[in-house]
Amino acid sequence: LTLRTEPHYVLGIDIGGTKLAVGIVSPEGRLVSEVRTPTLVREGPDRVIRQLLDLCDGALVQSGLLRSQVVAAGVGCGGPLDPITGVVMEPPNLPGWVDVPLVARLSDRLQIPVSLDNDANAAALGEHRFGAGRGIANMIYLTISTGVGGGVITDGRLYQGENGNAGEIGHMGVVLGGRTCGCGGQGCLEAYASGTSIAGRVREAIAGGRTSMMPELAGSLEQITAETVLAALRAGDALAREIWEETLDLLGMGVANVISIFNPRRVVLGGGITNFGDLLFPPLRERALRRVMAPLAAVVDIVPAELGSTVGILGAAAVALAAREASELVNVVYK
Ligand SMILES: [Zn+2]
Repeated sequence: LTLRTEPHYVLGIDIGGTKLAVGIVSPEGRLVSEVRTPTLVREGPDRVIRQLLDLCDGALVQSGLLRSQVVAAGVGCGGPLDPITGVVMEPPNLPGWVDVPLVARLSDRLQIPVSLDNDANAAALGEHRFGAGRGIANMIYLTISTGVGGGVITDGRLYQGENGNAGEIGHMGVVLGGRTCGCGGQGCLEAYASGTSIAGRVREAIAGGRTSMMPELAGSLEQITAETVLAALRAGDALAREIWEETLDLLGMGVANVISIFNPRRVVLGGGITNFGDLLFPPLRERALRRVMAPLAAVVDIVPAELGSTVGILGAAAVALAAREASELVNVVYK
């Protein structure tokens, strides 16, 4: 048995359609350094990969660590992608990226193991390891912003499914023949609960003749966002209340469905919707828990995420750490 004396750090690489962020993270989740830059998305994957490699260099220099102290890298990126082959397939937020072998490209240059997962799964791993899910074996993560993403942790590990696409909680059907979703399906949770869909339903209702303070609050009908709905809700607007109640009902149904399948100890909710605070959590708990059987309701809580704006980098770092642990386990078993 050998004991490690020096800590081993990992790179967390967060690829978004508008910004790139890279940080160096300790095994305990301390962010040692952090660099960000706007994504040159229109210049294509080769240029963005060069940007990422420059950011990795920048994060290393800023950290003051030796290159040899950074032992692995994890990447969180918009899907669809294949975490097993490390190929990014064709994410809507990265136009021009078609079947990009991102893991091969990065590990070739960085000379360390690189692992990849979609941004919601990465965030689930990050919250589980460093945030609101610490010490919890069975956890569901749900992020609600412009879209709805999710990740499922069972027995302390990310549940990946047959080809790495498990946890697409946003595309669970909640309304038969309902609104069309970005995925092409109908009645998905995302088509009701995402910030975009909440604002869209408000705009449709007003265009259909409903009166509300929201166009004036936002400046115009087109400028209404989920934040406008929150402000109008606090000011007692009847339409905002109606749309929000419907959102809570459907979100409660969706959360109850995942609780019924996975029997988690905790549901962690992240993303912009958590700004609704007490207008969200107590009524959502009530609506979700009354739909599940008593033994399931008895052990689960529904709480806000904890990592905030660092979730991208810390989630990617958690992808690297999980892959590292899995490979060490393989070595123990087979060597
Ligand atoms: Zn969908």
